[in-house]
Amino acid sequence: MSRDPRYDILFEPVRIGPVTARNRFYQVPHCNGMGYRDATALATMRGIKAEGGWAVVCTEMVEIHPGADVAPYTELRIWDDRDVPMLARIAEKIHEHGSLAGIELCHSGYTAPNRWSREIPIAVSARPVSSDYHDPIQARAMDKQDIRDLRQIHRAAALRAKQAGYDLVYVYAGHGLGIFQHFLSRATNLRGDEYGGSLENRARLLREVIEDTKNAVGDTCAVPVRIAMNEFQGSAGLEPAEVEDAIAMMAELPDLWDLSLSSWSNDSQTSRFSEEGFQEPHIKGVKKLTTKPVVGVGRYTSPDSMVRVIKSGIMDMIGAARPSIADPFLPKKIEEGRLDDIRECIGCNICITGDYSMTPIRCTQNPAMGEEWRRGWHPERIRPKESESHVLIVGAGPAGLEAARALGQRGYQITIADAAREAGGRVARECRLPGLSAWSRVRDWRLLQIGKMPNVRLYLESEMTTESIVEVGASQVLVSTGATWRRDGTGSYHLRPITIAPAADALTPDDLMTGKRPKGKHVAIFDDDHYYMGGVLAELLRKEDYRVSLVTPSALVSTYTKWTLEQVRIQSRLLNLGIEIFANTDVTSVAAGHVTLTCVFTGKESTLPCDAALLVTARDPADRLYHELVTKNFPVSRAGDCYGPGTIAAAVYAGRRFAEEFGGTPNAIFRREVTALA
Ligand code: ADP
Ligand code: SF4
Repeated sequence: MSRDPRYDILFEPVRIGPVTARNRFYQVPHCNGMGYRDATALATMRGIKAEGGWAVVCTEMVEIHPGADVAPYTELRIWDDRDVPMLARIAEKIHEHGSLAGIELCHSGYTAPNRWSREIPIAVSARPVSSDYHDPIQARAMDKQDIRDLRQIHRAAALRAKQAGYDLVYVYAGHGLGIFQHFLSRATNLRGDEYGGSLENRARLLREVIEDTKNAVGDTCAVPVRIAMNEFQGSAGLEPAEVEDAIAMMAELPDLWDLSLSSWSNDSQTSRFSEEGFQEPHIKGVKKLTTKPVVGVGRYTSPDSMVRVIKSGIMDMIGAARPSIADPFLPKKIEEGRLDDIRECIGCNICITGDYSMTPIRCTQNPAMGEEWRRGWHPERIRPKESESHVLIVGAGPAGLEAARALGQRGYQITIADAAREAGGRVARECRLPGLSAWSRVRDWRLLQIGKMPNVRLYLESEMTTESIVEVGASQVLVSTGATWRRDGTGSYHLRPITIAPAADALTPDDLMTGKRPKGKHVAIFDDDHYYMGGVLAELLRKEDYRVSLVTPSALVSTYTKWTLEQVRIQSRLLNLGIEIFANTDVTSVAAGHVTLTCVFTGKESTLPCDAALLVTARDPADRLYHELVTKNFPVSRAGDCYGPGTIAAAVYAGRRFAEEFGGTPNAIFRREVTALA
């Protein structure tokens, strides 16, 4: 297949200062939870992006000094020469495939608590550090010597970056994380000297550092600036009009403008809250201010949208973090005219939970993400079959579909059966819930791939029993029959069932997703699951005009979504919908007409009158079939929620892992780099 000429514009080279990108696909810097700890794994992942056609591939933030230490987050470091080989390995892997390597040098100012280095944090103005842990530490205001030192440190880091082989050396003023943004913003810059006050003064350090970096490495390296277009505080902070003035003042100074929103939760909005291209209103004014290339992001997965934003003069290069994570080969697939092979990002932000949990990035759509080196998985390739085995997969949810797809790609004969009328399992149900429609891509991409494989046959409306499984005569069975929500209140908080009166109208998420509704109009939701389900169902019921009270033992609604950057948006949406929230509260019993609430701190009880209770607590693996087959000594394995109920990402991963390990020897121990002793 060849490329559709409509997309030719995406493959034009772009000059960025002294270097040239071979096309307009630009993987902007993104964190990944691997950093210095998993250096070769990280280098391999970046190399695969380059192989997939991204003309520019960048690192995540790279700490330039122990005074910018964001431990325990695992980012990269360029403190001294000893960090150069690790960084050079990343650049080499990117260069192997003809792409340009970019490095995001970063000083985090008051967002670096320096827990590891124990340096006193520095900031544009004195203030408490800002961290997820609310560390009781204050950052001191930088004096003139500190500013001179910071310029020197940044310059030294730029020289090391050049030595490590990087083609683009960033000046970072984005996401509320870069110190140059803190200087630029009137929200954080309270200085009375020539670095504070007017926009010109607030932009002074940014200008100086751009000039320093250009002077240090600009002969061979491009110097991009990543800048926050909006801090969403109105005129109290940065907003597009003022940032445009700042850009106009320095328009031709850097070699590229990389535009983003601040903070990270605004920049990486999920599909539950925003569409592809959501940043356009904030960035569309920039290109007329500068002749330098402009990069923007907005979860672009559609080549038509990409062409539109370039032709309409919004940006010159398509920036992407998440679309490049979900499909490192997105550019190649457009180039080769294989549009339906594009594995579109679903905008769930599971990838971001890796950074927050300091563990390697994983992706719902791309189970190879983070496993490229440590398990040798590739997003596009898998080793061919080693036998003529026929595998029967029972359950076409995310685990079963991915196992079928990957085993099918290996060349095995696959039969996949599902009792339901449509494939997709939980994805088919959950994508109908408010805001989750993009999640259907998990199912759709796999069905499309399987549909092209003559060796994979999918049977729907085919409920399998032990007997019918034996009749199929497959050499191996994979059971991926999912899980069901518990009805007894058991969850994180209650390890034993709670009292539920027989006359009570007690429902589960499965009931709601299969169309059942509460009998009365007031529903109390007990959310002891803490991810999205409780909040999403509250929204669903409220929009259907139920009165909704959401009870959670946690301090926040949908607590886990802090790590998908959605928590604040979820809680404010629920409050704005008029949903009553009982935080730090447990449901201890459910009766007809009320639930009993208990304060998790004091144990004080109260009664909440309601017509029905919705229990969102935990799930039971649907593993009966598996155990029956084990009893019959049938060659059987299980994967996904029927083994361990978890995320859709975990189910997809489990399916891929089964396919990768099939015919081999599973090994729980993956490749890792072990610390060299001093
Ligand atoms: P996972 O997340 O692990 O992939 P899901 O719950 O999404 O699990 O999917 C499980 C699928 O298994 C559902 O589509 C369900 O219809 C199917 N299933 C469960 N039991 C059987 C069975 N006995 N025969 C065929 N399909 C089944
Ligand atoms: Fe997209 Fe979700 Fe993958 Fe992140 S984890 S890249 S948001 S599909």
